[in-house]
Amino acid sequence: MSRRTPIVAANWKMHTTVRTAAELCQALRESIDGIRGVEKVVCPPFPFLALARETLAGSSLKVGAQNVYWEEKGAFTGEVSPPMLVDFCEYVIIGHSERRKYFGETDETVNRRLKAALAQDLRPIFCVGETGEERRAGGTEEVLLRQVRGGLADIEIAPGFVVAYEPVWAIGTGVPATGEMANETIGLIRREMASLYGGELAQAARIQYGGSVDGANIAEFMAEPEIDGALVGGASLKADVFTAIVEAAGRLKGTG
Ligand code: PEP
Repeated sequence: MSRRTPIVAANWKMHTTVRTAAELCQALRESIDGIRGVEKVVCPPFPFLALARETLAGSSLKVGAQNVYWEEKGAFTGEVSPPMLVDFCEYVIIGHSERRKYFGETDETVNRRLKAALAQDLRPIFCVGETGEERRAGGTEEVLLRQVRGGLADIEIAPGFVVAYEPVWAIGTGVPATGEMANETIGLIRREMASLYGGELAQAARIQYGGSVDGANIAEFMAEPEIDGALVGGASLKADVFTAIVEAAGRLKGTG
């Protein structure tokens, strides 16, 4: 199996102000710039992308957006297009469960966003995950296969493509999945990607776990062979905790 470089991304969601965003970027630059063998991505709200880019310029930290629209331009009040983002960030989170839950995101709109992002060479962090109800009803596999197939329909992926497996019941709840459960479910996603793209590309894809990851549980996830990093929400707003997460990912999984 090829060695995959783990990727740890900070999803700040709708948090921070211009002052706290600058402070957090600066603190992270100081604490995690030197950690090698793990890709580090900071995803602030749209208004702070330029600030993040400036503060992190010349460091090993990359910037990501939290969403993107599929049209290039036009009368779409409030939306932000891929060509607008490319000068500010390298990554973009697409299909986060909060977008699916609160903003009507579907597999089809996720697919459109992924295509539009890739067409501008933005690197997606493609999110999938089942709800608690779906898991309890035994529907996890069906839901994930639908999300993966629907989201990736007619899309070519390159080695290193990033998927975030985020069980909805674990996001922001303080109740993470177990390492074993996440590993098993990510294995399922990778098998589906192998059927879509072949074993080589599936093995090269990086599949993160997300859902109540913190400094105390990250080691459990990084000990699992299928898990290639983490998408971190709440814990990414504290520089010391996010640093501990990145350090653990580097120590336990780093390719450097
Ligand atoms: C997320 O927003 O992607 C996430 C995983 O949130 P949290 O870490 O707070 O559960």
